[in-house]
Amino acid sequence: MKITFLGTGVGIPQAGRVQSGLIMEIGSKPVLFDCGCGVLFRIQESGYEHTDIENIFLTHLHLDHVGDVLALIKANWLVGKTNMRMFGPEGTKEWVEQTLSVYDYMQGRFEVDIIELKAGDSFSPEGLDCDIRTAPGVHSTTSLAYRVEHGGKTVVYAGDTEPCVPVFELADGADVLIHECSFPLDFEMTNHTTPDMFSDLLKKTPLNVKQLFLVHLYPHMQGHEDEALEHIGKYFDGDVTIPTDLQVIEL
Ligand SMILES: [Zn+2]
Ligand SMILES: [Zn+2]
Repeated sequence: MKITFLGTGVGIPQAGRVQSGLIMEIGSKPVLFDCGCGVLFRIQESGYEHTDIENIFLTHLHLDHVGDVLALIKANWLVGKTNMRMFGPEGTKEWVEQTLSVYDYMQGRFEVDIIELKAGDSFSPEGLDCDIRTAPGVHSTTSLAYRVEHGGKTVVYAGDTEPCVPVFELADGADVLIHECSFPLDFEMTNHTTPDMFSDLLKKTPLNVKQLFLVHLYPHMQGHEDEALEHIGKYFDGDVTIPTDLQVIEL
């Protein structure tokens, strides 16, 4: 499995990090997870074609995770690709329908096959050679973490969440956990993760994964990256890394 980080940032603009998004290559198929603003541009930069994206998984419907969905639909439509499949939490169907309904000229011209998921779902998507399981994050809106197993490798993408037991359990035995770390050490925060919130949970709940990647960095994290890695590294046995946009990892 190959993972390409497209956007490792958040809703506030910062140099080098666009909003949330990554591609997991499953078999030979690039599958997009989240599609915040800037992700469409990053898809092009990464060497993938936006028309290659047949499947999108959304963790939740906050704008920094869905802001480029409409832009991707439009880009595909402009070059003659008029369908895609989208997985997301409850409310995804209503969000897509209402958002698209504003644009008269798009009516009936693009087909989005929407599959709404709940935490705890377990399934193999038709046409994709993988097994998927979901778990609930702790966030200000319904947010799903995804566990993707393919070819003997397992990747978990947690979306926006506080560090929580269901996500750690979902990640048990995974090769890679991609978890947010929005704010630096000692930052008072709920609904998101700081290094000390992460280590507090690590002290109580073992995290059995090989590699941990920290994404969804607010500008407040600038200059505090090493401190975050060092702090979490004290309590976590595997590798912990903060990836850049367009970084690729092969499993
Ligand atoms: Zn969010
Ligand atoms: Zn977010």
